[in-house]
Amino acid sequence: MTRRYPVAGPSITEREIARVTEAVRSCWYGKHGVMHERFERAFAEAIGVGHAIATPSCTSALHLALAALGVGPGDEVIVPDCTWIASVAPVRYVGATPVFADISADSWCLEADTVAACITGKTRAVIAVDLYGSMPDYDALQALCDAHGLALIEDAAESFGSTQRGRWAGSFGDAAAFSFHGSKTLTTGEGGMFVTSCDATAARVRVLRDHGRAPGDRWFENQEVAFKYKMSAMQAALGLAQLERAQELIDKKHALKRSYTDAFGPHTAIQLNPVLPHTHATPWMTTMVWPAAWDVTKAEMHAALDARGVDTRPFFHPLSSLPAFAESPKATAARWRNKTAYDISSRGLNLPSAHCLDARAVATIAGHVADAFGTLRGEAKRGRSAA
Ligand SMILES: *Cc1c(COP(=O)(O)O)cnc(C)c1O
Repeated sequence: MTRRYPVAGPSITEREIARVTEAVRSCWYGKHGVMHERFERAFAEAIGVGHAIATPSCTSALHLALAALGVGPGDEVIVPDCTWIASVAPVRYVGATPVFADISADSWCLEADTVAACITGKTRAVIAVDLYGSMPDYDALQALCDAHGLALIEDAAESFGSTQRGRWAGSFGDAAAFSFHGSKTLTTGEGGMFVTSCDATAARVRVLRDHGRAPGDRWFENQEVAFKYKMSAMQAALGLAQLERAQELIDKKHALKRSYTDAFGPHTAIQLNPVLPHTHATPWMTTMVWPAAWDVTKAEMHAALDARGVDTRPFFHPLSSLPAFAESPKATAARWRNKTAYDISSRGLNLPSAHCLDARAVATIAGHVADAFGTLRGEAKRGRSAA
């Protein structure tokens, strides 16, 4: 069987196995919360925020952020058009309306101008997404949000280990959310983290995520109907062990992108994850975007690489193009407005970026990429001359 190159996957060592074993043996009865406390405290310190609250997913952490910040029915929340649907679904959970803003070619993220174009009297919040580990210009976004009285939430699911102007991803805006899904840079299998430096927001999230119980409540006296969004001790133990190896996990992601840069060579027209000035982006997935002039669709390239044993994922389709939002007037408007999102998304793929890969694997993959483009661009040219 020929080798397949996975697009994502974790790095698990004896350290993780030992910690999870420790948790499943001992984190019960009076010690059921010990691993959470250690993981949350270490995570908050690592990111440089006041509070970290472990959740079952990033989706639930974003839901809690919106609920805690009081976003609800009648409100509009501006989101980037190109992101995973998990950035946006929680907007619907709280009864608000997502508004899809264009991304910037310089960062593949939101930009103050694209957000400003979407602000109305109903806008309450902006969810900025650190796409594939790159980051938007948070100084500009924060200034815009301050000027209009909008909450700013950072979806840092893909940017563990990135920094901008000396601050860690996850420390921007009013609150942020991380994902520890099995595909992410740091994993707990499934899991997430809500982070904030605002004491009141953290206190509100602790109530909302535990069925409306005040912290420390032992009389099971629910103050309101809320949510149940908790992580297990085994997951927290896995996360703690991964966090102890954070630098190694981050270094690996940088090394993979460097290997792709080397393998594609200095004269390639293929663009990899763009990074803004003052930003040090940890690439969750090294992602390639090729010239429009090559006339190759992402579906064609995905299939050609799949046939060569190389797993890829499509650059996020614009959310406004998906069946899930077919009924949304905001999506209809976005389809006309968001030229950059539609252009870049149509010619991009995530390359294999799993922790198990190395420079040799990347060199082989780059060979397959060159080979696939050779075939597809050739066919495209023949097709045109025959026409
Ligand atoms: C993975 C991801 C999420 C969702 O994370 P879950 O833990 O699966 O809920 C949210 N936003 C972005 C940008 C992601 O990549």
